[in-house]
Amino acid sequence: MKIVLTADRTLMSKYRNIPLGDFLGCVPSERVPRKIYDFISKVEAPLDSIGTARVAPYGLRKIEAALLRDGFSRNEVVVAHSDYLHNFIGEDTEVVVNYTMDPLGFGPVSMMFTIGHKYTSYNEIEFRSLMDTIMTIKKKRNLSFKTVVSGPGSWQLVYKFDEAKKLGIDHIIQGEGDHVAAEIINRIINNSAPEIINITSWPSVEQIPTIVGASVQGLVEVMRGCGRGCAYCMPNMRVARYIPIEKIVEEVKINVRYGEDTIWLHSEDIFLYKLEDKRNFIPNTEAILELFDAVMNVDGVKHMHPTHCSIAPIVADSNLVPLSSKILRAGPDNWIGIQPGLETGSGELLRKYMANKMKPFSPDEWQDVVIEATVTLNENYWFPAYTLIVGLPGETEDDAWETVRLLERLEYEVPERVGKEKAHFITAPLSFVPLGALKDRDFFNIEEELNEARFNVIYRAWRIIVKEISRSLKFLVDQPLPIKLLIELIARAGGKAILRSIEKYGRKRGYLIKPQTTVMNIKAEL
Ligand code: SF4
Repeated sequence: MKIVLTADRTLMSKYRNIPLGDFLGCVPSERVPRKIYDFISKVEAPLDSIGTARVAPYGLRKIEAALLRDGFSRNEVVVAHSDYLHNFIGEDTEVVVNYTMDPLGFGPVSMMFTIGHKYTSYNEIEFRSLMDTIMTIKKKRNLSFKTVVSGPGSWQLVYKFDEAKKLGIDHIIQGEGDHVAAEIINRIINNSAPEIINITSWPSVEQIPTIVGASVQGLVEVMRGCGRGCAYCMPNMRVARYIPIEKIVEEVKINVRYGEDTIWLHSEDIFLYKLEDKRNFIPNTEAILELFDAVMNVDGVKHMHPTHCSIAPIVADSNLVPLSSKILRAGPDNWIGIQPGLETGSGELLRKYMANKMKPFSPDEWQDVVIEATVTLNENYWFPAYTLIVGLPGETEDDAWETVRLLERLEYEVPERVGKEKAHFITAPLSFVPLGALKDRDFFNIEEELNEARFNVIYRAWRIIVKEISRSLKFLVDQPLPIKLLIELIARAGGKAILRSIEKYGRKRGYLIKPQTTVMNIKAEL
């Protein structure tokens, strides 16, 4: 094949449909045994015996679709399963593209799990291993194709450019390429492209092609960009564009045709879909419900989840989630998963770095917004997997204690309001990584910059995750019984081991896990 598109196994697996299993690649390989990683990150079988990928990362599908639309033929372009590259790379091959999200383990989740790169994430191991496979084929067969890396993680290879050269990478592409993919590939083939290709323009909605094969997790994009303006956020650098419903439905149908019956609607924030009120961010509920309805009405779609949202719209329009739940057929056997950003409990940091995140509310109302939104989500069978950031530039101990206070409020107020059985959420602590408007700042250095307050944020957040895993995996994992039991066993044992190791780490540094004194204060205030 002239153009071979591929990605490593961390991006080609559905992780046995375990909620948030996709983050397994971020764990330290020195701590999580290979056997456990391999078992959970089971790679999907290819579409055919030569090894064409049946499912592939959504971004890679977009590159494929753009190339096919803009001059390349089906006989020239393939999305290859990473275990079968040898069947596609040969004398005719001009370009091999390795699509990546976290090639060197500098992503916020990996940085937290690997204690600031002290350990090596499976994401990094698998990316390097795929590069090694590509380069071995090139050398053994004496070929001269170009190796190209693209995808949301390509910034890491620009950041460590020497490392990219050592891996044999000829070109690194950064930016949205739907409208220029064919032109870039032609320039690479003609030796007229620079080593680092920065795409500075954006495709219009019309220039974004429709995918032609299934995406991992049935992912379908509904919008690009955001508009809330958080300073640390890379997607925020993009112009907000909404994909029309007809195009979305077309991609849903393609996924269904290739066997996917659960669709994940991807956006930076689903509740911004077709937003009209750009001042107060009051959601366009009608457009959101119309979108959900259209997707759920596609024959063969059983479940649908949005990937990300902000939570202020849930409180701003109290009908939004209840009405959505009806359309999505949410219930005790069908929880809707979603990842919102909780970020911090500190009004000061909110004001400084993300002043629109809580609109139409104020930074000082954020903690109440989080509680109210979580109550509404849980009451309507939505399961938020919150992320929060540790080590934002200028974060003081007081700021971090405010986050501890918010975690505590979540832990105690939500079950009180919705009942213990219905209260479900996790809070994943991420390490600050300099991206977006803060790209010139330093990475959060967990070893040097940890203090008691930040330690408590991390410990509390993990404790919520571990407790939740033992409560909810049984109804969230849809696998044959023996596999399900094995996954539960691994998750429980793994969760306890993580908590123990954080406790040990804290003890060594002399940190105390603070008791629930702040809860008492909150109760007194109420
Ligand atoms: S709301 Fe989320 S996606 Fe939007 S700018 Fe902020 S962090 Fe980025």
